[in-house]
Amino acid sequence: MAFANDLLCWGQAECTDIDHKRNKIKCKAAGVVRGDTADFEVEYDQLVITVGAKPATFGIPGVAEHGFFLKEVQDARAIRNRIVDCLETASIPGQSPETKKRLLHFVIVGGGPTGVEFSAELHDFLRSDVAKKSFPDMDKECVRISLYEAMPQVLNMFEKQLVQYTEDKFKREGINVHTNTAVIEVGDTCLKTKRKEANEIEEVPYGMLVWVAGIRVQDVAEQFKKALGQQGRSIEINEYCRVKDTQNVWAIGDCTFGALPPTAQVASQQGKYLGRLFNNFAGSSPQALDMHSHCLSQEPFQFKNRGAFAYIGGSQAILQTGSSENPVVLGGHEAYFAYKAAYFSKLLGLRNRLMVGTDWFKTQVFGRDPSRV
Ligand code: NAD
Repeated sequence: MAFANDLLCWGQAECTDIDHKRNKIKCKAAGVVRGDTADFEVEYDQLVITVGAKPATFGIPGVAEHGFFLKEVQDARAIRNRIVDCLETASIPGQSPETKKRLLHFVIVGGGPTGVEFSAELHDFLRSDVAKKSFPDMDKECVRISLYEAMPQVLNMFEKQLVQYTEDKFKREGINVHTNTAVIEVGDTCLKTKRKEANEIEEVPYGMLVWVAGIRVQDVAEQFKKALGQQGRSIEINEYCRVKDTQNVWAIGDCTFGALPPTAQVASQQGKYLGRLFNNFAGSSPQALDMHSHCLSQEPFQFKNRGAFAYIGGSQAILQTGSSENPVVLGGHEAYFAYKAAYFSKLLGLRNRLMVGTDWFKTQVFGRDPSRV
């Protein structure tokens, strides 16, 4: 196994296939500049799969073509450019009132934590930075944010009182929350919604649609799962984070979501656990160099739930911690400061902390930057 001294790292190589019978993975150059490299294979002793997940569109027509996603850095850049595009185009003289209203309608599909946090951030951005500083003449009544959720409430994993707190705040701020309403089709300027237990379909014009309605595993993980005959939505692992029915393949993070939620908290604890497991193995005597018996001598992985936060806008957040039988909940500015402190403490390295801290400071003092990127 290539432990610490023998680390090879290819930043622009994409793994396209896992052949666990031959202990090899197939890769290809994935950068914009490909050079002369064709597909190549890498042999492994132990393989750890941490490929994450990607947005799920559930086959809903038009989502992939017209929706914006919130997964990669380039997704965030595309969203920012689209917001600015909508705002600038709406302010060009000669636009009809209908077009202006459409361009300034921002739609978010999916009322999980991602959808709620994005709605809150977008509201902050439009009300504090755009309306006051960059587009002071904009007709504020035209700017709308709508959040669509197919289930009866947003933030399903949070306690009822925190959900109510969030929905009340959104209502006061003018963020339109449509629960029990599924988006069933997306066109380039108009989407279709269907309310639960009602037959009518509504057409809603929009300027930008952000799709945060759930995730699915990456293609390479899907392929691997199928090769192993696994039927679930993600890669199945055992209590040691080892992929079921394999001897030397491990998987952690979002590509294994199911029993545990696909959160950074889970992935980070799994990563530390696996690091310890491998380090103990590397230090064991040559007689014990069998990963299977090594695992049996180790503690299985146990997730420790440290609680969940969600940002709800205007420097407020919600926090839920404690056990599911005895939850501790908090909402408002105190929860926001706890959220920021927790986030900051999890940043890796002084450089990251300095850069993120400086960004927060710049945003507080000068507001968010509304230029294109
Ligand atoms: P999610 O799966 O939690 O929520 C997606 C929501 O979209 C669901 O409530 C679903 O009912 C809804 N939906 C699906 N199809 C729809 C449709 N056609 N029309 C309308 N609504 C539809 O997804 P997420 O918010 O991206 O979160 C993914 C994971 O990441 C979760 O485990 C979450 O806990 C975690 N996460 C946590 C935080 C946090 O703790 N602050 C922030 C972001 C993500």
